[in-house]
Amino acid sequence: AALDREVLWHPFTQQLGWSEEAAPIIARAEGATLFDTDGNAYIDGVSSLWCNVHGHRHPAIDAAIRAQLDRVAHTTMLGLSHPPAIELARRLRDLAPAGLTRVFYSDSGSTAVEIAVKMAFQWWAQRGEPARTRFVCLENAYHGDTLGSVSVGGIDLFHSRYRPLLFDALRVAAGDAEALERTLARHGAEVAAVIVEPLVQGAAGMLLQPPGYLRAVRELCDRHGVLLICDEVATGFGRTGRMFACEHEQVSPDLMCVAKGLTGGYLPLAATLATEAIHDGFLGAHADYRTFFHGHTYTGNPLACAAALATLELFDSERTLEMLQPKIVLLERELAARVAPLEAVAEIRQRGFMVGIELAGFDPALRTGHRVTLAARRRGAIVRPLGDVVVLMPPLSIAPEQLRRLVEITAGAIAQATA
Ligand code: PMP
Repeated sequence: AALDREVLWHPFTQQLGWSEEAAPIIARAEGATLFDTDGNAYIDGVSSLWCNVHGHRHPAIDAAIRAQLDRVAHTTMLGLSHPPAIELARRLRDLAPAGLTRVFYSDSGSTAVEIAVKMAFQWWAQRGEPARTRFVCLENAYHGDTLGSVSVGGIDLFHSRYRPLLFDALRVAAGDAEALERTLARHGAEVAAVIVEPLVQGAAGMLLQPPGYLRAVRELCDRHGVLLICDEVATGFGRTGRMFACEHEQVSPDLMCVAKGLTGGYLPLAATLATEAIHDGFLGAHADYRTFFHGHTYTGNPLACAAALATLELFDSERTLEMLQPKIVLLERELAARVAPLEAVAEIRQRGFMVGIELAGFDPALRTGHRVTLAARRRGAIVRPLGDVVVLMPPLSIAPEQLRRLVEITAGAIAQATA
């Protein structure tokens, strides 16, 4: 623990004030449980970072990675290809909303968004019409940490510090279709794409959009001839109860970003899915001009692709989505019974296995969310604060009994930290 403090610079360290208490050092994991080097067990209430799907050390995913290790660990996608990348792309194409036929790999959710933004911009620029240089995003949106993805973000905390380095996006209120309509009516001809987190704005604290909103966004994009980018980095791979959040409203975006759960939370891999029309905009005689300039060293890593293939197969063999439905109901019931009655709780927002518990009377100086996290940790569960919102995002495979225990620990931690 001392060496951890000496040599590491953890993300968001200052904001969360981890320095008050050393981070548990995780030595191993099993299913939905993490064990630290002192032998303490914790329920993984946030699926690592919202990415674990079928639990830690799942034998099928472990075996798939080991088997791939015996073939080749890494080779490039620049001019070469490999079987897991090809097979995974086909699986993603078959699973994704209709029309998303092309898979462009990368290595994190932020990068998948960065790529979608660059693709949309370049696609319009290559059409020989006046270039469309603007993007519309939602207030409170989170699309990642890189400069392009922060530019289309809407959370001031992440945005304001880097403003001079960012491009200016048009920001509209989430859930308000009329606001989007007004913006597109005014600026539509300059707009390359609208980017949204479908149904749930995760990092903003699990803000839920009203039913029909995503559908309306799609219709408005069509009416104004603007591309739609859906960022399914957090919502994808079963989180909302369906494979992709877009499915709840039968929406097919022009570009879709996935990452996090894609490898079951094992290895870094992301993908930007595009329609054939977008892909074809990069073909043609002017090969140089139409090149899409993006390709990271570890793009389409074979070990990660093998883990992703095993992850997607498990959705079938373990009937993950079917088994999830009663657990979503159980989670809702347990939250209503144990968490909702607490005086310190203002609101509970849940969509599938995405939960935000908003604490009442939030004072940033008290860092209540952070203290809830520490209290939960002492009681044996890892939860995470987003400001005044306590997040629960357990692995989809969590056992009902463990899910109940996670809610019980969270309720106890909130009561203790706000007493
Ligand atoms: N988009 C959304 C909707 C996210 O929730 C996140 C991560 N929380 C990202 C993008 C960024 O993904 P990554 O951390 O893998 O870069």
